[in-house]
Amino acid sequence: MNVNHSNNKITETACKITDEICLPDSDLPRIVIIGGGFAGLALVEKLKHQEVQVVLLDKNNFHQFQPLLYQVATSALEPDSIVFPFRKQINGYKNVFFRLAEVEEIQADSNTIMTNKGSVSYDYLVLATGTTTNFFGMDSVAKNSLGMKDIRDSLNIRHMMLQNLEQAAITCDDDERDALTNFVIVGGGPAGVEMAGALAEFCKYILPKDYPEYPSSIMNIYLIEAIDDLLSTMSDKASSKTLKYLEDLNVKVLLNEAVSNYDGNEVTTKSGKTILAKNLIWTAGVKGQFPKGIDKKHVVKDNRIKTGSFLMVEGSKNIFAIGDIAAVISKKTPKGHPQVAQTAIQQGKWLGNSLLKIIKNESPKPFEYKDKGSLATVGKRKAVADLGKMKFAGYFAWLLWSIVHLMSISGFRNKLMVGFNWAVSYFTYEKSNRLIIRNFKPTSSQTKESGQYES
Ligand SMILES: Cc1cc2nc3c(=O)[nH]c(=O)nc-3n(C[C@H](O)[C@H](O)[C@H](O)COP(=O)(O)OP(=O)(O)OC[C@H]3O[C@@H](n4cnc5c(N)ncnc54)[C@H](O)[C@@H]3O)c2cc1C
Repeated sequence: MNVNHSNNKITETACKITDEICLPDSDLPRIVIIGGGFAGLALVEKLKHQEVQVVLLDKNNFHQFQPLLYQVATSALEPDSIVFPFRKQINGYKNVFFRLAEVEEIQADSNTIMTNKGSVSYDYLVLATGTTTNFFGMDSVAKNSLGMKDIRDSLNIRHMMLQNLEQAAITCDDDERDALTNFVIVGGGPAGVEMAGALAEFCKYILPKDYPEYPSSIMNIYLIEAIDDLLSTMSDKASSKTLKYLEDLNVKVLLNEAVSNYDGNEVTTKSGKTILAKNLIWTAGVKGQFPKGIDKKHVVKDNRIKTGSFLMVEGSKNIFAIGDIAAVISKKTPKGHPQVAQTAIQQGKWLGNSLLKIIKNESPKPFEYKDKGSLATVGKRKAVADLGKMKFAGYFAWLLWSIVHLMSISGFRNKLMVGFNWAVSYFTYEKSNRLIIRNFKPTSSQTKESGQYES
């Protein structure tokens, strides 16, 4: 590296003559982490203050708490309650450096990665790039619906919803009003179930106050699931309770129905059902996202990268994959581990300890996942919990869900803001301000990060 960082000053001329991203010179082994999600951040926490140089690269300058995206989408929380700047997270970590860059390619032969801002060399590389929405090749759905994978998606959903409710008050056309006030959520996993519950509560408690001109029956919420169960990875008790809670909230749950087409105005299912709706939220699947340079033979179902139980990408000695992107295939886990926050956190922590051992020429033990259980909430005050043999549902499950989520959010200020918002809404059923700050324009590029808003 030819950039001089003595006394922490970056020599300007050096930066101009190289395409490398400026980083301090160091004799320590350099570990480059791509992605600061649950996995990447857990790894950073293990490596802070250690005898290694850590470079964290992310295309955003913040960590996102995805389990609460649906609350931003439904105006229950403001976006800054569930995102946390990386630079604040690494304050005081002298061996950790954050660079805002999108990684485009891995050049394993030269231990280098190429980003949209320049190249970075590494001794060890960790892919923690997570997943993106999977529309399973259905172009019409990808074009016209909204996914819920990041904070921008949540804000898009919020603006789409508020604008469509306003437009419904303007139009005199009954069919158009129906389409504007019908919401279809696809996918009966935790994200879809939680979104449906939150929207149903919006309909029950906010709609009558904010839109007194509408009858409360105007907003219809459909939850469509392709198989015969909601929350299929949880127990039968959790699935049946969830169905009951949602039906009590007037959500129309369609099981064994798969969406086959969506033109932006009408949803069609494989069995031929149609629903008029200008709001379609897609939570039915994810697929791995990672830069070029990984051999296709190491990529398995849903675009995940196959690793062994040392989380090393097959065929390499210094490239690892953790979190949602990694499929740890073994006899015990032929499909890999579940793509949840716990897996990502446990793998990040495990890899931190293991890399420190590998650097000292010691052998780490294989990774073993400990299932700490699953929780999902359905509206306020109701949730389902599977904790080993203990399976319960109702108010206490919801209390547990609230505590677990509050404890898991990054940053004291964020915990405080979320806790305060929840406390207010617990007693008043009020949500934060429902402002249309930017004009969301439903176009055929809704799922792209840019271009959703008129400038
Ligand atoms: C709506 C929703 C609800 C969920 N609810 C729950 C829940 O209740 N409980 C639970 O356990 N799990 C839940 N999950 C799943 C959980 O959020 C994921 O399992 C977890 O986020 C995976 O962590 P990760 O670190 O692997 O990836 P992510 O958290 O997705 O982080 C990936 C990071 O990589 C960055 N990145 C990606 N590509 C690049 C690139 N090329 N260059 C630079 N940076 C890049 C991204 O910006 C991001 O910061 C939910 C997920 C969603 C979407």
